[in-house]
Amino acid sequence: MTRTYLTTPIYYVTAKPHLGHAYTTIVGDALARWHRLLGEDVHFLTGTDEHGQKVQEYADAAGKSPQEFVDEIAPLYAEAWKKLNISNDDFIRTTEQRHKIGVAELLQRCYDAGDIELDVYKGKYCVPCEEYYTDDELDPGDLCKIHKRPVEYYEEENYFFRLSRFQQRLLDWYDAHPGAIQPEFRGNEALGLIRGGLRDFSVSRTSLKWGIPLPWDDKHVAYVWFDALANYITAVGFGSDNDEFGKWWPGVNLIGKDIIRHHCVYWPAMLMSAGLEPAAGYAVGGWLLVGGEKLSKTSGNVVNPLDLVDDIGLDGFRYYVLAETAYGQDGDFTYEGLIGRYNSDLANNLGNLLSRVATVVGKKCDGVGPAPRQDSPLAAAAAAALAGATEGWAAYQPSKALDATWQLIRATNAYLETNEPWKTEPGPEVDAVMGDALEALRIVAVLASPALPDTCQIVWERLGLSGQVSDQRVPVNAAWGGYPGGTAVVKGDPLFPRR
Ligand SMILES: [Zn+2]
Repeated sequence: MTRTYLTTPIYYVTAKPHLGHAYTTIVGDALARWHRLLGEDVHFLTGTDEHGQKVQEYADAAGKSPQEFVDEIAPLYAEAWKKLNISNDDFIRTTEQRHKIGVAELLQRCYDAGDIELDVYKGKYCVPCEEYYTDDELDPGDLCKIHKRPVEYYEEENYFFRLSRFQQRLLDWYDAHPGAIQPEFRGNEALGLIRGGLRDFSVSRTSLKWGIPLPWDDKHVAYVWFDALANYITAVGFGSDNDEFGKWWPGVNLIGKDIIRHHCVYWPAMLMSAGLEPAAGYAVGGWLLVGGEKLSKTSGNVVNPLDLVDDIGLDGFRYYVLAETAYGQDGDFTYEGLIGRYNSDLANNLGNLLSRVATVVGKKCDGVGPAPRQDSPLAAAAAAALAGATEGWAAYQPSKALDATWQLIRATNAYLETNEPWKTEPGPEVDAVMGDALEALRIVAVLASPALPDTCQIVWERLGLSGQVSDQRVPVNAAWGGYPGGTAVVKGDPLFPRR
């Protein structure tokens, strides 16, 4: 059986879950659900990043120990993902023992390989980024480009990872794995960084207390990258359960565009040094901006995703997040856009289609769904939707997959408008049209289920189908002709009342 291991970034616990976190996590969830429909063995991981100087500062400010602090924040993520119907198979916290063991193992391997060495670091450092920057990476006035705040001058003894030795090996790897970074223009960004020359990066701090000590020198604590990035392997058993690790690694990392350097340059080099396979691929998303700015606590434009769920419903929110923005590009979140998408695609298209089909079947077919025709005029539209959805999900493009699926919804609504079964006397003509429309809806329920799991299950049940839509398999159960006919079709309340 094909195995698919998908990961979101782990989220730093100094912020509560916001729209940006929800965005990447919902994309990962929908992809995981799609791969389960394909019949693959799927492992979907998310989690929280809990070490570092900022956590220490936040904990100090709150009068708590760092552990107490992270123990309060981490569950907010787990709860938010539950409310957003995220189907993660695991949730890693970097303060867990399995993670600490794996990080120590990874560090030791790179040290033994001679790729981690002691040196002195001097430079300009952004505390929130936990990163040193060169002058050309900063805005005038030595401001961090992301945080718009001044960097600080640091000088300290650090262990360094000799990234500079990996330029050719990384270029060779990407050459041998074309398309490993999606979308392609994000891959070009990563290759540009590698070709531009690689600087060694610091992997430890002596000033830092809240973290994982280096196994060979416990005056130093592992600094962000070895600690955070390693979660993708420690969660599946690296250092603690080799069979499990061998089963799942390498996986695909879903990341935001701001962490390309760390994931597509640092991370594969670290793994190569340790004698491990780099990640199988990277799906790089843009930012979901609000008013043209990145969501951040400092810019004060944080949107709580759970508030939006209260406003528009869970699947309305999930659909918007997945359909509105091409993954890889920046999106601009607006409330008007959310309502607009909801009304046009969900209320007027999907919701309306189910409602009119169930109404006509109720009035003209005694509430019992007729079987579809094999030679239906809708069969080609259904085949195109299946092909388009398959292609879209495979390319980490939920918006394309959903657009292809919605083409079938629109084609079915148009088909009903052309045939006007509500004006026709009951009989074979109406039965033929309604059987086709029911079959189209059944296929839509399968194809849209990664995005709208609850709604598609409701559609499934209202069509009189048994079992779980999530137990269907693609392509076989999304091929034309699967609706058997003879089921009791139920109208029920509107799926998506207009807003
Ligand atoms: Zn910064």
